[in-house]
Amino acid sequence: MFDKTETLFYTGGMEGGDGVDLMDKLSILTDSAKYDAACTSSGVGRAGRDGMIGSANFGGICHSFAADGRCISLLKVLMTNYCVYDCQYCVNRCSNDVPRAAFAPDELADLTMEFYKRNYIEGLFLSSGVMRNPDASMERMCRVLELLRGKYRFNGYIHAKAIPGCSPELVTKLGMLCDRMSVNIELPSERSLRVLAPNKSREGILRPMAAIRDTLRQNKQELAVFRSAPSFAPAGQATQMIVGATPDTDWQILRLSQGLYRQYGLKRVFYSAYIPVGTNALLPRDQPPPLLREHRLYQADWLIRLYGFRAEEILSERKPSLDPLLDPKCEWALRHLEAFPVEVNRAEKEVLLRVPGIGLKSAERILTARRAGSLTFDDLKKIGVVLRRAVYFITCRERMYPGVRLSPSFIYQNLTADTRRSPRGLPFSPEAEQLSLFPPPAVPALAGGTAGAAARDGGRGKEAALPWPAPVM
Ligand code: SF4
Repeated sequence: MFDKTETLFYTGGMEGGDGVDLMDKLSILTDSAKYDAACTSSGVGRAGRDGMIGSANFGGICHSFAADGRCISLLKVLMTNYCVYDCQYCVNRCSNDVPRAAFAPDELADLTMEFYKRNYIEGLFLSSGVMRNPDASMERMCRVLELLRGKYRFNGYIHAKAIPGCSPELVTKLGMLCDRMSVNIELPSERSLRVLAPNKSREGILRPMAAIRDTLRQNKQELAVFRSAPSFAPAGQATQMIVGATPDTDWQILRLSQGLYRQYGLKRVFYSAYIPVGTNALLPRDQPPPLLREHRLYQADWLIRLYGFRAEEILSERKPSLDPLLDPKCEWALRHLEAFPVEVNRAEKEVLLRVPGIGLKSAERILTARRAGSLTFDDLKKIGVVLRRAVYFITCRERMYPGVRLSPSFIYQNLTADTRRSPRGLPFSPEAEQLSLFPPPAVPALAGGTAGAAARDGGRGKEAALPWPAPVM
């Protein structure tokens, strides 16, 4: 496999010699990128209709959010899924027998522009497997971005992944061409990394992260002096952590995230529930992805990033896991009933933000609305407070909601009643999975063989297999 990669990259003949055509490459390389959770995939397929504007496409187009809150659709793709590393949790590991492909830089730049012109996407989310070494992959990614920004004058959003172990010069070069950068931390502990990703090291991941942080700081000073100075990754840096592939606890994960926010100035940590794609005996097998755990970690992460909580307030070594039945803010409030009830007509903003059911917006609205008069439970409902959770922890005009008692067992029973009564129990289906840009048979079919071919065209012939029109190159 390695020899083939080398030959193909050096001859630039990815599109001809390996027999992989452009649509097949797109199918393989968007499918290989779908496990990266640093943005969320769309799950909707909807054609345009008479009298209506717009349409929606399947996963592979992912979404990110601009600083002004706009949702941006991105083409989420790998430069190549050839990889010389053998990370056991990754579908693209060199020991895995999957169809492989790679884009030439000009091919991917052209494709991005054609998609952009057709209004499929507004930007690009680009990552890559490790070719010969991290720098070789980074150089090719830089080339794609140089073509987009230079030749095509593309001014849209680009999120690029720096490859762990790459040189700081290439980090700077890539950051000057993209809006957001990320380096995936992947596993929450050094021990897990040693066992499951032997080609990677903690230092190889943290070094580019530190380089991004330092260049961002330096760039901020330059921009303060020269407003026309080029911007380095103006949307900052992010990372992704896989959840449930190793025995690492929620407590370890949250403490690591808190450290990353504080020391590396990260904008976001993305949590990705492990999808069993590995055969290593150390990895969980035949288990559904821990989506609820991922969801609870996102909730706890919000508390740390936006609500002023510390990881140590949410979990501890003695209580290392988040409760699947309760969101982390309710869990914290139940453990600190001495701080409640809070009188909403008097409490400071920081205190309101600790009340379950009161979010950033509703806290602001309470502060504004109570200047005009004291608030009732009905007023709070109109303001957007989630009374279903908040009533146990607040008073309005010094009175608690009728029938509510400030007792831990009473509150716990009521807060978890809906979940326990639901026939499906928890809010995520075990069948949930990451979506592909193309219908499920498309990528396995690229492995070849009669069964593959039949799966690929659904018995209707090759032309009918792919739902999107071929891009005009
Ligand atoms: S470096 Fe590891 S995680 Fe990244 S593509 Fe290669 S095998 Fe997958």
